[in-house]
Amino acid sequence: MNKGDLIMKIRDIHMNFHSKGICVRAVSGVSFDVHKGETIGIVGESGCGKTTLGRCIVRAIEASEGEVIYTALDGKEYDFLKIDRKTMKGIRKEIQMIFQDPYSSLDPRMTVLDIIAEPIKANYPKMPKAEREAMVIDIADKVGLNTSYLKRYPHAFSGGQRQRIGIARALILKPQLIVCDEAVSALDVSIQAQIINLLRDLQKEMDLTYIFISHDLSVVEHISDKVGVMYLGRMVEFGETEKLFASPKHPYTEALLSAVPVADPDVKMERIPLQGEIPNPANPPSGCHFHARCRYCTERCKTEIPQLHEVDGRMVACHRAEELSLRGFDYADA
Ligand code: SF4
Repeated sequence: MNKGDLIMKIRDIHMNFHSKGICVRAVSGVSFDVHKGETIGIVGESGCGKTTLGRCIVRAIEASEGEVIYTALDGKEYDFLKIDRKTMKGIRKEIQMIFQDPYSSLDPRMTVLDIIAEPIKANYPKMPKAEREAMVIDIADKVGLNTSYLKRYPHAFSGGQRQRIGIARALILKPQLIVCDEAVSALDVSIQAQIINLLRDLQKEMDLTYIFISHDLSVVEHISDKVGVMYLGRMVEFGETEKLFASPKHPYTEALLSAVPVADPDVKMERIPLQGEIPNPANPPSGCHFHARCRYCTERCKTEIPQLHEVDGRMVACHRAEELSLRGFDYADA
């Protein structure tokens, strides 16, 4: 596989949860492509379905409908939602997840060496101990962990170091694709920057592809080549990061961008208020799901669901995308 090759086609993913006769549509008809070596950022408010989408992509949960066609390192294509669990187990080592809370995802009773070695034991149980430990030391060194501390337990490490342990465990089997689910959200801002820089360096060194899920646009902007904006289970805008930040085409993207903090206290960004709370996904609004919070809403928006269509080189789901002139994130101000 070469840089830029298509490695994953995500098509029309739906994820419905049923409880007490109520159907919650957590993800509705999301589609996009992932190419080798790129980072796709997925953003949106809490409850927009981005984490559920990430879990469907790695088949941590079974999507209700859709296709995830993955081209493995052996060049063969697999439809994740159709293959049996045994075949999936063979491919799973190529696709890993990094989670938000490094502490709760690390077993406190295991040493860091054993935590990082766990995926090797599960996939290559006959590998000699010395070889396994050499692999752990190699990856620990790559992610910036002090290798003389590997016999310690997770509680002895800071939040940033614990996330490095989580990254080492995700990388130990040399995966092709990593889904990072709010991977830096629990960390202090200065540590966030270190981990993002580490992820970028590792991407170059190990030829990695990322799907980076976050509620934080400034983080996504720093790491992503393309960004998908989700609202109430749907993708409402998808395109190249620079274009999407400079000239958004969806009113929800515009509102999110206006809320990105600016480091200079003299710069006053006009924040676009989002009216009300994110609606209940069990009972979404008619028409455009965003209409009750959108300052550009028309009568058509209240009844007709806008479909994703191409506008100025990206995909947008808004009836008024062609006519509106929306405010982007002004890098000169920031
Ligand atoms: Fe706003 Fe209408 Fe566009 Fe929805 S379709 S984002 S309500 S202008």
